[in-house]
Amino acid sequence: MSQDKRTGLIHHPYVPPAGFEAVAPGVHKASTVVFPNVAALQARNWRSKTGYTYGLHGTPTTFTLEERIATLEGGLQTLLVPSGLAAITLVDMALLKQGDEVLIPDNAYGPSKELARNELAGWGITHRFYDPMDARGLAALIGPQTKLLWLEAAGSVTMEFPDLPALVKLARERGVKVALDNTWGAGIAFNPFDLTPGGDALGVDVSVQALTKYPSGGGDVLMGAVTTRDEALHLILKFCHMRMGWGVGGNDVELVLRSLPSLALRYEAQDAASRTLAAWWSQRREVVQVLHPALPGSPGHECWQRLCTRAAGLFSVVFNERYSPEQVYAFIDALRIFKIGYSWAGPVSLAVPYNLKGMRHEPAYSGTLVRFSVGLEAVGDLIHDCQQALHALGP
Ligand SMILES: *Cc1c(COP(=O)(O)O)cnc(C)c1O
Repeated sequence: MSQDKRTGLIHHPYVPPAGFEAVAPGVHKASTVVFPNVAALQARNWRSKTGYTYGLHGTPTTFTLEERIATLEGGLQTLLVPSGLAAITLVDMALLKQGDEVLIPDNAYGPSKELARNELAGWGITHRFYDPMDARGLAALIGPQTKLLWLEAAGSVTMEFPDLPALVKLARERGVKVALDNTWGAGIAFNPFDLTPGGDALGVDVSVQALTKYPSGGGDVLMGAVTTRDEALHLILKFCHMRMGWGVGGNDVELVLRSLPSLALRYEAQDAASRTLAAWWSQRREVVQVLHPALPGSPGHECWQRLCTRAAGLFSVVFNERYSPEQVYAFIDALRIFKIGYSWAGPVSLAVPYNLKGMRHEPAYSGTLVRFSVGLEAVGDLIHDCQQALHALGP
């Protein structure tokens, strides 16, 4: 009996020839992965990238991106998660247990602090926020319960650049694991697993990135990565990742793979433009401080200089207190090229106001702060845009 056409559409005899080679990696999508026989199904290996078990746990496409991100970070293993925030969550969940304490910089990515304040606290995991510019103060905070130290360089919004090697060394000496939110550095500005090139190898234990930012570069994908150099630590994270059921879709991975080759070029271009714009702002009397780690006088500039030659296209300005928040908002509303919105490292320049009261334990600035993310527009147009919008600031 000949086979029904409906079955033939699914179990078709045609097999395309093997050996197709193209510039872009293939996009594989699956929940179900099929096995040639029961023995192969029973022998499936979850641990390493030697085969496939289930779409959630890896496809040729996700394995390819994982390997490329591991190379970018200078690490050995990478796990992909659905967002940058999920990457932070994975590290916290895998490495912290009831009774443990985590130390988070006061200038960390805000939702990371919220995660500790709300979810972690509910599971009996305590946290303390520390001043990343005060290594001695941090040393005094580390106790027997401290199991994890978070780092971020530069810090969110206020852009302080900490002495990363000193902070890592301090944690190392006390047996505390170190995780870095490396979204800003993106694997370009410095190597998180080798912070003292030429010296004694000193690096973080885990580096996370929001691939949403530079690796995507398009403002259209959400994804995160967790990278390690230590196999045992990787497996702890990997098993937590599997149990949590965090996977990423093949189409999203495709977008990041497509953007990755231009990552370094975009980073350089946005770095150059943001330094030009930051220098322009530092001449303006409306602002009292420009916060950009590559700018002399910005907090942690010397630490940035010791470790990096490049900086992300991100900086903040603090307006003189004589301008009310509403006046600063009017300036932002008057911008034409800069759009108003969160995230960064995409093609479109962005501006967001912040009030540091409530965001920081001891805010260093009392004026309204505006964080700029520089896109890929011509920098002359961006300067002109800021200049014309300043008229809306008022007297
Ligand atoms: C954006 C960002 C995140 C979170 O990334 P999402 O993909 O938006 O969840 C984490 N850390 C830093 C420093 C970020 O800028």
